[in-house]
Amino acid sequence: MSKAVFAGTFDPFTLGHQEIVERGLQLFHEIVIGIGINADKKTLFDLDTRMAQIQKIFAHEKRITVQAYHGLTIFFARDIGAGSVLRGLRNSIDFEYERTIALANQHQVPEIETVFLVAQPQYSFISSTVVREMIKHKGSLQGLVSPLLEQELRA
Ligand code: ADP
Repeated sequence: MSKAVFAGTFDPFTLGHQEIVERGLQLFHEIVIGIGINADKKTLFDLDTRMAQIQKIFAHEKRITVQAYHGLTIFFARDIGAGSVLRGLRNSIDFEYERTIALANQHQVPEIETVFLVAQPQYSFISSTVVREMIKHKGSLQGLVSPLLEQELRA
């Protein structure tokens, strides 16, 4: 049974993230959404809130679980027995950045592959940073995050 890790900070989880996970389910039997804990990075939403938001979106999907982890994503993936790390690519900047990380990860744990999915054009401009800016300045969140989260993100 194939297992992949989709990792990030998810502050908050966007429709761009969601679309990659949903397409990933066609490739992998199980996807673990890993929330990396980085004590140096201040987030708008605390860890429990981010976990609950993602669990709400995928409440109907038993093949998706959410787990927090410390340290390198690739070691987390190895420790939970995942064979792949799933990533999304929005543009060439993502590609250059992701390429370096994927090579470094392969150097550390050769048996784990990084699998990239190219973002759909309508999601390619979405980032957690853009969503946080819209929250701060009271912009619309429609089309940026799941309708299930729109209200609570505004609160
Ligand atoms: P963080 O949540 O730590 O900011 P990112 O969102 O940068 O992490 O990255 C988590 C993964 O989600 C990365 O593979 C990234 O390329 C992907 N991703 C982020 N936003 C989108 C998007 N709009 N469309 C597709 N993939 C995305």
